[in-house]
Amino acid sequence: MRWSIAKLKDLQQRLVRAYPDAKCALDHRDPFQLVVATVLSAQCTDSRVNITTPGLFARYPDASSLAKAKPVELEALIRSTGFFRNKAKNLLGLANALITRHDGKVPNDSVQLAALPGVGQKTANVVLANAFGVPALAVDTHIFRVARRLGLSAAKTPEKVEADLCRLFPREDWIELHHQFIFHGRRCCDARKPDCGNCPALSLCDVGRGKVVDPHSGTKLAVRGGQKREAALKPERTAYAPLPTSGPLRIISLVPSVTELLVQWGLAAQLVGRTRYCIAPKWIRATVPEVGGTKDPNFQRITDLNPELVILEKDENSKWVADTLTDLGIPWMALEIRTVKSCMAAWLALGKLLGALDQAKARVVGLKKLLSPMPKTGPRTLTLIWKDPWMSAGPDTYPSDLARCAGFKPIGPERWPQLSEEALAALNPDVILLPTEPFRFSKRHAAELERRFPLAKIHIVDGQAMTWYLSRTEEGLVMLRETLGR
Ligand code: SF4
Repeated sequence: MRWSIAKLKDLQQRLVRAYPDAKCALDHRDPFQLVVATVLSAQCTDSRVNITTPGLFARYPDASSLAKAKPVELEALIRSTGFFRNKAKNLLGLANALITRHDGKVPNDSVQLAALPGVGQKTANVVLANAFGVPALAVDTHIFRVARRLGLSAAKTPEKVEADLCRLFPREDWIELHHQFIFHGRRCCDARKPDCGNCPALSLCDVGRGKVVDPHSGTKLAVRGGQKREAALKPERTAYAPLPTSGPLRIISLVPSVTELLVQWGLAAQLVGRTRYCIAPKWIRATVPEVGGTKDPNFQRITDLNPELVILEKDENSKWVADTLTDLGIPWMALEIRTVKSCMAAWLALGKLLGALDQAKARVVGLKKLLSPMPKTGPRTLTLIWKDPWMSAGPDTYPSDLARCAGFKPIGPERWPQLSEEALAALNPDVILLPTEPFRFSKRHAAELERRFPLAKIHIVDGQAMTWYLSRTEEGLVMLRETLGR
């Protein structure tokens, strides 16, 4: 599609009609609240931020009160937005910088804003546009995807897409367009299942009409005649784009235990990237480049490493990581490990994909032997994974299923709940398991729990054996059985 001025105007009018309510999705009353909310929104949904900020602003209504906040108290208030320690640090730095450099006020200057702790150029543009009405068109993951699908830009970085959009549209429309594109990406032009059949821009979109390949999935998406055809995106747990059919792949693993598994299977040479938490075996740290954390990978580094497959796990890595990889056109596969049995399926899937089927089958056979016969239901067992606040591994998580297979009976709320002191007391477990990671539970914590639950048995257990599925499943099972026998 060649975009004439008339067509660009047509697109704008359609977006105005389709999204009359398009506006900044972060609740705020002044520039201070907006800059704080924008910092919190990194790798978090806007609705989650909007739930968090009323309590935060009631406690810290301005930069001077926030600058004096106790880190622990601040962290507790923003915990649900994720990466809370880092964000708390940034907010404290931000508040202090506002006090010392700007008399407690948020500056309306792009350079000064971007220089504040936790505020990059994109955040600065969002604040400038929404708090001060300064035209800006910050490109987030939605705008990046929509602009490329519509053929408004073929650029491969958000900065270049932003430059293309700013060239195409009048400056006075940038703020409105920014919100309209985001609404369109969220409500219609979804990363995996774009609703092309109901898209207000379908007749202007060559990707939606199946004329050209979607730059994100590498496949043709939809349809002639307005009838939707099954989008050519594959289910979430498989690679979304075609992989090379033969030869070794360039793999980035964003899952520590998968990294270890690939080494166990002799596939270390195919690993071109890993997270900073992929620390086993030790030598991997010196030989395979690091690409950031499991929840906050560095996409520039990932792109530079030119991977043919990125491996994710649904609890370990956030959905936005997969979405961003999709937007960047990087093939990925996401495993979902909630049970010991799901390890077998994952071994076979990985083994088939990576040419290690024999090793995978051998692990399946070995694990089946270990699981037969399944033990009888044992003591009511709570697995704690964090303190301050207490958090547990619910019965539907991998660590609890491993405990179940070892003979314990997992208790507690589902998934990874926070437990109030009252909720913890009410569970009244027979056994408490304290894995040494992700929280470093020690004898001191065990003694504290022994005082609170004098009738319960408290065991500190190897956190990696208990939580590193796939690479240490059998080791974890044996360890927990021995623990139960003690
Ligand atoms: S037609 Fe489909 S791909 Fe094109 S903008 Fe609309 S939803 Fe997105």
